[in-house]
Amino acid sequence: MHELGLIQAAMEEIERAALANNIRRVVKVKLVVGKMNGALPDALQFAFGVLTPETMFEGAELEIEEVDVRLRCPACGRESVVGEITYWCPECGARAEIVGGRELYIDYFEGDEEEGLNDEGGNGPEAAARQPEGGA
Ligand SMILES: [Zn+2]
Repeated sequence: MHELGLIQAAMEEIERAALANNIRRVVKVKLVVGKMNGALPDALQFAFGVLTPETMFEGAELEIEEVDVRLRCPACGRESVVGEITYWCPECGARAEIVGGRELYIDYFEGDEEEGLNDEGGNGPEAAARQPEGGA
């Protein structure tokens, strides 16, 4: 299944970033997935549920933002947003250029830092959890 590979790759990337930031437990992940990737949100959620038990992602929430496919047509000059994978301009039928929908990246993830787990006074895990990573 295509989606298992995508989730696995995303988890590896997040795990590297998390460990570099002393984050031992990931509580939320947000992925941005263009529809051109052909990955179905339901299947991504399923893959996440299969791959995360007994990892630092156990129990984490996965949020997926889907990005529609955008085409720009060299023949008629129109830009169209389509909800499915296509290479053809819906206006005139010419072969169009894909200008959006290939996105596939980790928007951010949230985790608990090592310190937060000990809970020896201080600010508690809430303060540590609000640390969006990545971006742009
Ligand atoms: Zn066209």
